[in-house]
Amino acid sequence: MPSESVHDWLDAHAEALDADSGKAKEVLPRLAAAGLFRLGVPRELGGEGGIGDAIEAIAGVAERSLAAAFTFWGHRAFIEYVVQSPNAVLRERWLPRLLDGTVAGATGLSNAMKYLGGIESLGVRATTHGEGGGWLLEGAVPWCTNLRAPEFVAAVAVAREDGPPLIVALPSGRAGFKRSADLDLIALRGSNTASLRIDSVVIDASDLIHADGTQFLPQARPAFLGLQCGLSIGLARVALDAASQRSGAGREVLGAEIDAQRQALREATDALKAGLGSLGLLAQPVELFKLRLALADIVQHAVQLELQASGGRAYHRDQALSFARHWREAAFIPIVTPSVTQLQGELRKHEARLRAAA
Ligand SMILES: Cc1cc2nc3c(=O)[nH]c(=O)nc-3n(C[C@H](O)[C@H](O)[C@H](O)COP(=O)(O)OP(=O)(O)OC[C@H]3O[C@@H](n4cnc5c(N)ncnc54)[C@H](O)[C@@H]3O)c2cc1C
Repeated sequence: MPSESVHDWLDAHAEALDADSGKAKEVLPRLAAAGLFRLGVPRELGGEGGIGDAIEAIAGVAERSLAAAFTFWGHRAFIEYVVQSPNAVLRERWLPRLLDGTVAGATGLSNAMKYLGGIESLGVRATTHGEGGGWLLEGAVPWCTNLRAPEFVAAVAVAREDGPPLIVALPSGRAGFKRSADLDLIALRGSNTASLRIDSVVIDASDLIHADGTQFLPQARPAFLGLQCGLSIGLARVALDAASQRSGAGREVLGAEIDAQRQALREATDALKAGLGSLGLLAQPVELFKLRLALADIVQHAVQLELQASGGRAYHRDQALSFARHWREAAFIPIVTPSVTQLQGELRKHEARLRAAA
């Protein structure tokens, strides 16, 4: 266990984690050593606490570094798939090493979530292979975070001709499975984000997270999305704190707006944790979508307030202010799947269905 707390380490290296990949390797072992991946995992599987604790832990990391928090999310979302999987062999194979951070879990399921929303088709296809019930996979995943050397395992959705899509755990060492170099991003560059190529990769039933993605994806979505909301919660909190702390002529004028955003953030966070704790949001995805949209909106207001309260100092590269990084980090929030645009489309469809039924 490192002697320095994980939060102190993140505070010291947040700019580096955003700007390049030099510190990327250290994130996973440090989060694991602090026990953060165990939060919200059932006790009998080696976990402790509830899903609200996991969301708060992601928010706490996001207050310091969104690159680290998104790495955390990808890893923790993969853990959730393994926990929710009916495949005990898969769970035994991966869960202990995911919890202690010696293997990196990655979720390449944006494509699947967009597929679920009717936006795009799946980018990986399976054909049956051999006599023993295996498959041969072909395709690509354009984005995937936490593809950390020396070993990762990535969740991928796979279309097949003779049944519903498979949700598969692909390990980095499998023949035909290739990671690109890190993508050339404007921020979050220490997040081990790359694309994946899948050329004639052989899998069998032991690699399946679930044999029916149409059943598994809606079931996994509340945790996927709820944990992801921790990113917005943490980033909004730190930007609103920064806005409050800056002194200057505009401070008093901005006070009421800062308080209003803080209140909205508290309410959305409480509703999210209560809804996920009671599993009410499992039955009501639309309510979960609305919370994700509300939080994304609060983030944009929060960084604007940080900018306005900081004034011209925010524009200086030689000042020890975090505004420019928060601004770039905030640009990620609307586009991460399910994106704000996708969810606005879902809400529009939902309202049309209600109108048609009335
Ligand atoms: C730093 C970073 C890390 C990432 N890590 C991962 C990861 O670990 N795993 C992963 O799976 N993905 C990851 N992604 C991808 C991310 O989650 C989004 O899927 C991706 O940014 C969406 O962009 P696109 O270019 O594919 O969207 P496009 O398909 O080009 O669409 C553009 C926008 O329009 C929306 N849209 C498209 N069609 C419709 C429609 N019919 N109705 C409503 N809205 C629509 C999309 O949701 C998107 O917001 C990452 C992205 C970034 C930037």
